[in-house]
Amino acid sequence: MSKIAIMLGGNLPDTPEKMDFALEKLQNSGFTADRISKIFHSEAVDCVPGTPDFLDRAVTGEWKNSAEELLRICQRIEVEAGRPAIHSSRESRVLDIDIILFGNEIIDLPHLTVPHPRALQRRFVLEPLAEIAPDWNFPGKITVREALKKLNG
Ligand code: ADP
Ligand code: MG
Repeated sequence: MSKIAIMLGGNLPDTPEKMDFALEKLQNSGFTADRISKIFHSEAVDCVPGTPDFLDRAVTGEWKNSAEELLRICQRIEVEAGRPAIHSSRESRVLDIDIILFGNEIIDLPHLTVPHPRALQRRFVLEPLAEIAPDWNFPGKITVREALKKLNG
């Protein structure tokens, strides 16, 4: 069992219900949710003008399998929720699932980097995560609360 933190995101009208769909699917695949943040809203950055606001929510819990298996399941759920399997990372999406933390492991594979490489720079990751897991430490670095404080200057 590993304690994990994931982010559910998206910016289309179906996103909130697809977040619930994802949680249910994950719980049927070896995940036991512990805490779930509220939905946070943020403006789209680095996207074409007119891109709808993004919704993000953090989830922590126990995962009974490997990190790679978790990534595979998350990507399958994204596709089941209607996200095209081939997509650009800057386009609107109904559901995006990112693995932020996997216990205190550091994973550096071609297709999987944990902690998520951009988490420390993203307010839309740190804010929801700080609501439910402020004292979680980015391995060898700082806690979620400290990271958010630093980002907020
Ligand atoms: P984004 O999340 O930036 O919108 P994608 O969801 O399309 O982009 O993910 C792009 C790639 O990121 C995926 O193919 C996946 O293999 C890779 N990836 C690397 N590390 C992670 C991680 N921690 N969580 C989720 N995906 C990751
Ligand atoms: Mg993603």
